[in-house]
Amino acid sequence: ALYHGKRHRRGTVNIFTVDHDTQIQRDAAVEIALRKADLERELVVVFQPIVDIASDRTVAFEALARWKSVALGDVPPTQFIPIAERSGLIGRLTVILLGKALAAARHWPDTIRLSFNLSAHDLCSPQIVLQIIQMLNDAPIETSRIDLEITETALLHDMEQVQEAIRMLKLLGCSVSLDDFGTGYSSLSHLHALPFTKIKIDRSFVQGMDSKPASYKIVKSLLALTRDMGIDCVVEGVETVEEMSLLRELGGKMVQGYYFSRPMEEKDIAGFLADRARP
Ligand code: C2E
Ligand code: CA
Ligand code: CA
Ligand code: CA
Repeated sequence: ALYHGKRHRRGTVNIFTVDHDTQIQRDAAVEIALRKADLERELVVVFQPIVDIASDRTVAFEALARWKSVALGDVPPTQFIPIAERSGLIGRLTVILLGKALAAARHWPDTIRLSFNLSAHDLCSPQIVLQIIQMLNDAPIETSRIDLEITETALLHDMEQVQEAIRMLKLLGCSVSLDDFGTGYSSLSHLHALPFTKIKIDRSFVQGMDSKPASYKIVKSLLALTRDMGIDCVVEGVETVEEMSLLRELGGKMVQGYYFSRPMEEKDIAGFLADRARP
């Protein structure tokens, strides 16, 4: 009702719903709050385990950003990351988050790797790339234990810059993963053109694997493809025991999802690892 009059005054066929207007205002508020926030303090990193199916061991944790905004309350990354990307703030966030993730990882057993999400926007900024490289170089853990995840929808930026950045990150010793595989425009051509060490199969394919034959077949084929290509593969969003047993049957390598754990705070990692090590 609040927006009814406004819609009328525009006098056009309006595809915007009330929700859309609200969304635009909310986005603007998020951007303003991001600019004003003490991000060093308000940004937090949580960690979700990645498990090797064959050995049933935790092999890595993926760092996931949380923003405990003083002004807005908790804002999910699905909301603030795209806004940070659009408004040119993402580089600052990435640097802060990487610092926190590395600081946490220094306390982990050295069999455990760190996965960290980079925005393709980061890779298009030479200044941010340089800063990231410096941080990785000075990192408290070996770069060979660091895995950088890049979402494929974002790869449509400046392919040459992204390619160059990926090459440098690999030269440093890091692995580079193609995240959300299968959800972008040209998954296979990205896999072909860029030297990824790993793909992460998006959870949309996994959920429904046991009910939708198409989902099942896609996951099956992707697992076969990565095996053939000799690259690693993580299946994301595994929630149920049924999904887990299907993935085992199909020879899946690594899995991540609520089935094992939701993202956890840094302080809970040691306990989680100890619990899982018990027979
Ligand atoms: P992502 O990189 O694909 O991360 C996986 C997301 O799936 C996480 O959501 C995780 O909590 C969620 N998830 C994990 N297992 C399950 C499951 O079994 N079921 C379901 N339904 N969800 C599951 P989250 O933490 O909300 O992050 C959302 C997205 O935000 C990430 O997707 C990533 O694209 C972005 N993001 C998060 N942290 C960062 C960051 O530090 N930097 C950048 N650039 N992006 C980030
Ligand atoms: Ca990721
Ligand atoms: Ca993903
Ligand atoms: Ca995602």
